[in-house]
Amino acid sequence: MIHQKLPPIPLQQVNFDFLEEKNIQLHILREDLIHPTISGNKWRKLFYNLQEAKNAGKNQLLTFGGAYSNHIAATAAAGKEFGFKTIGIIRGEEHLPLNLTLQLAIDNGMQLRYMSRELYRDEKYNASFLQEMKAEFGDFYLVPEGGSNAFAVKGCTEIIKNIDIDYDIICCVCGTGGTIAGIIASVDETKQVFGFPALKGGNFLKNDIQQLLADYQQQFVVEINNKNWQLITDYHFGGYAKTSSELIDFVNNFYQNQTIPLDLIYTGKMLFGILHLAKTTAFFNGKKIVAIHTGGLQGNKGFDKIKLIF
Ligand SMILES: *Cc1c(COP(=O)(O)O)cnc(C)c1O
Repeated sequence: MIHQKLPPIPLQQVNFDFLEEKNIQLHILREDLIHPTISGNKWRKLFYNLQEAKNAGKNQLLTFGGAYSNHIAATAAAGKEFGFKTIGIIRGEEHLPLNLTLQLAIDNGMQLRYMSRELYRDEKYNASFLQEMKAEFGDFYLVPEGGSNAFAVKGCTEIIKNIDIDYDIICCVCGTGGTIAGIIASVDETKQVFGFPALKGGNFLKNDIQQLLADYQQQFVVEINNKNWQLITDYHFGGYAKTSSELIDFVNNFYQNQTIPLDLIYTGKMLFGILHLAKTTAFFNGKKIVAIHTGGLQGNKGFDKIKLIF
């Protein structure tokens, strides 16, 4: 059986004078503390997938991701911890020496295969490719890219259970949209949900989120009432895994002031966005905000030349 023994997940208040002046309360839900190697939302997204794989009698997982993917790292670690073999299909060519994400994945027993960017984009879910993988590795349970499917959404509906204060707004950062789908599906309709895509042109995610909600609804026969969600697409810093000295300084200063480490790919961008909106607009005035720290700190190690103070 897959056991879900979670440590306490604290809510940590963020203190800046300008927040106080505008009567804004900002709390961070420290989901990054959920597990040392299966970080934050990746643990949430894998949990019911792992159960489903066990129920289906599968002893092997196959999944997809980029070379710095938190999902690849988490799947490899989860496979090791819960007794699955793991196969990672990596976007792009192999680069040696391997980066720390992929090296750690291999150390955790994951077998890697590389796929050109074009094939990865267009054909990774094709039956013929998956058949080839079955011929090579034997039968497997397929976890989609980023782990996002109806089981992942179900896992992410449990995030809000650890919030023990009243609040108006809940924020999370979006990659594939599975996490925000779980949050939308679980909060009551008095709450507003804001998603901050870490990718450029993040509005394409609206359809993906809607699709994930529909899949979740169908698979688990549940009602979803909350239509009060929107994406804030201005804080991608040039796109996925793009960064800037402004973002790096922000993440370092945030750690210095609040003792909360952020990652440069996801959570740093969201916190930058929330604080920027709080400072420069009246948008959040008088509101109580909870922002979800979805983890992903292993990704910071992928940026060789960048100096973070934690
Ligand atoms: C993967 C990841 C996300 C993206 O989650 P989605 O469910 O794909 O939207 C957000 N934050 C962190 C830290 C991640 O590792």
